[in-house]
Amino acid sequence: MKLVLLGPPGVGKGTQAQLLSAWLKVPVISTGDMLRAAVAAGTELGQAAQWHMNSGQLVPDQMMVDLVKARIEAQDCQVGFILDGFPRTVQQAIALSELGVGVECVLALKLSDAVIVRRLSGRWVHPASGRVYHTMHHPPQRDLLDDVTGEPLVQREDDCAETVQARLEVYHQQTEPLLSYYSNATEGPLCHQVSAQGDAEEVHAQLKALLHAQS
Ligand code: AMP
Repeated sequence: MKLVLLGPPGVGKGTQAQLLSAWLKVPVISTGDMLRAAVAAGTELGQAAQWHMNSGQLVPDQMMVDLVKARIEAQDCQVGFILDGFPRTVQQAIALSELGVGVECVLALKLSDAVIVRRLSGRWVHPASGRVYHTMHHPPQRDLLDDVTGEPLVQREDDCAETVQARLEVYHQQTEPLLSYYSNATEGPLCHQVSAQGDAEEVHAQLKALLHAQS
């Protein structure tokens, strides 16, 4: 199964990718996670990507295509994979198909901009453990401190309100056209649009039902 998860930032693609990965037993390829690891390790790619990421812009297509190409050639991807955060432009989708990767299914998660802004700008993380809090839905016991260690929580640099707005604009301009690209492609993948309004388990159940019906 080669599957693409599409949707705006903050819609829950990462969570759904993990749930589907456990169910389908295929790896997740999250380009956002790969880039953050490259930034943390200070690699050449990380240094080149950092400015784009912190300002909410996309990293140039060719860098992303090279990164994904190397990843999907790995042994564990031969059974299939879930792409989370790639492709993000029509150019990336064309490059993916030129690599001979036949995507079978596109799952597009939908949520309004207003809800996304609320979700992302309230998100705080404890960097050492990866624990995630939300000022409204899952606040820490003490203001902006981790419940377990008492250490300070931080915001992902690209989750601050202005950058979230920039990421949404980039999504509407550069990524949303992928919906029609994939739906209009002759012999293209099956495309499903799903509301991401409910909690993670509800959305996962909907995605599973769609994939079940398709197989
Ligand atoms: P994400 O965690 O998927 O929201 O990605 C975080 C940031 O990484 C994005 O805002 C982009 O700057 C960059 N990024 C991730 N995937 C891509 C991609 N396919 N193309 C370009 N930039 C990307």
